[in-house]
Amino acid sequence: MAGNGEIALLALGSNLGRRHHCLSGGRRALARGGQVVVRRCSRLYESAAQGGPPGQPPYLNAVIEVVSTLSPEDLLARCQEIEREFGRERRERWGARTLDIDILDFAGRVSGNPRLVLPHPRLHRRSFVLLPLLDVAPGWRHPLLGKTASQLAACLQDGGAIRVLDEEW
Ligand code: ATP
Ligand code: CA
Ligand code: CA
Repeated sequence: MAGNGEIALLALGSNLGRRHHCLSGGRRALARGGQVVVRRCSRLYESAAQGGPPGQPPYLNAVIEVVSTLSPEDLLARCQEIEREFGRERRERWGARTLDIDILDFAGRVSGNPRLVLPHPRLHRRSFVLLPLLDVAPGWRHPLLGKTASQLAACLQDGGAIRVLDEEW
């Protein structure tokens, strides 16, 4: 079990295929084996795709808080394995995908390693990350910017079209 683990925040997104199935299934898959325990889940959001090729379908987004006994690198490897399991194919940057799992924060660690940048370098500019993050950890503090999730959300300028869905996931 992840009793002595560390707290991590993960963002899940899907804009291809059975989006709802990919998000819930991805969360379930993360918890397999007990090294990752899901503690809190955001509501489900839908957002217009930002960046990447034009004409992409909208995303379902969510954020979860987990306790992990896996190292940050092993947790990322697990996330990428699960993305593949749900049919993720990598083509162009920011292209449509069945499942994307990003590590937003791992126990406040800071890393510039391009394979795993912590905290996630774009999280503070994204409504589709910060709004669900507010559901699970409004008081979470960005390890580099020193601001809480609520403060960061108040400064959002991406004009992202995003809404809460009244659906369980
Ligand atoms: P973005 O990072 O802007 O959300 P993306 O999720 O579409 O873009 P991917 O193609 O899923 O990007 O991942 C590209 C690479 O980013 C991965 O191979 C991974 O090694 C690296 N990466 C760096 N930092 C992180 C992080 N905090 N979480 C997940 N992947 C990361
Ligand atoms: Ca991403
Ligand atoms: Ca990713």
